[in-house]
Amino acid sequence: MQHSHSLSVVVPVYNEEANLRPLMEQIRAALTPLGREWEAVFVDDGSTDQSLAVLRELADADPRVRYLAFVANRGQSAAFVAGFAAARNDLVVTMDADLQNDPADIPALLGLFEREGLDMACGLRAKRRDTFVKRISSKFGNAVRTRLTGKTVTDTGCSLKIMRADMARRMPPFKGMHRFFPNLMLWQGARVAEMPVNHRPRNAGVSKYGTLDRAVQGGMDLLGVRWLRSRFIAYQIKEQG
Ligand code: UDP
Ligand code: MG
Repeated sequence: MQHSHSLSVVVPVYNEEANLRPLMEQIRAALTPLGREWEAVFVDDGSTDQSLAVLRELADADPRVRYLAFVANRGQSAAFVAGFAAARNDLVVTMDADLQNDPADIPALLGLFEREGLDMACGLRAKRRDTFVKRISSKFGNAVRTRLTGKTVTDTGCSLKIMRADMARRMPPFKGMHRFFPNLMLWQGARVAEMPVNHRPRNAGVSKYGTLDRAVQGGMDLLGVRWLRSRFIAYQIKEQG
């Protein structure tokens, strides 16, 4: 088992202009002491504020910072997929751009990943810093997903995760898939574990999801995911010549 993986932090960005500079500072502070090769890949999902201008500035200032910008808003899952395709390192680290996830958790999550020889390590927001409605609907969503999709992790909705990049790129792409990453990895035979991570209130910008929309769309996606599970192509190579 290799024990010094390089990292690509993949961050979807939709109108997060006020969060990007502090986020980049926190990523840099968390990763530099690890002494690994790393990069940050921001995917601007058609922002209409100054996010892209800030990303250009961050990339100009540090060669480890890269960005892609979509022509138009395509959703958080699309941004992750594009980021995984662009990632150049062994592992992808996923997180939100709004500072709700804490980059300071990355070293410990990576520690779990490498110590246990995992393919995926997931954050679990033990103490959610969201509105009551969001906490309840997210708990409900997590519970329903777990019931209907089989084995998964406690908090699929926590964006802070580490995955083997090659396996992340083999997940079938569809809108809303980011809520099912643990399933899509487990079906490939991934070894998955989770640990509690920090969660912070959103201080700048606004949440991009309405509770009802998310519940309805998430419910529809569940039907598709159940079908996909029954038809998923998973195989292991026994021999090659
Ligand atoms: N996001 C995105 N495209 C979208 C919606 C959201 O790239 O269409 C990004 C957003 O900028 C943030 C992350 O996805 O980095 C999570 O979004 P948000 O914080 O609004 O979700 P919540 O925390 O409210 O569940
Ligand atoms: Mg958020």
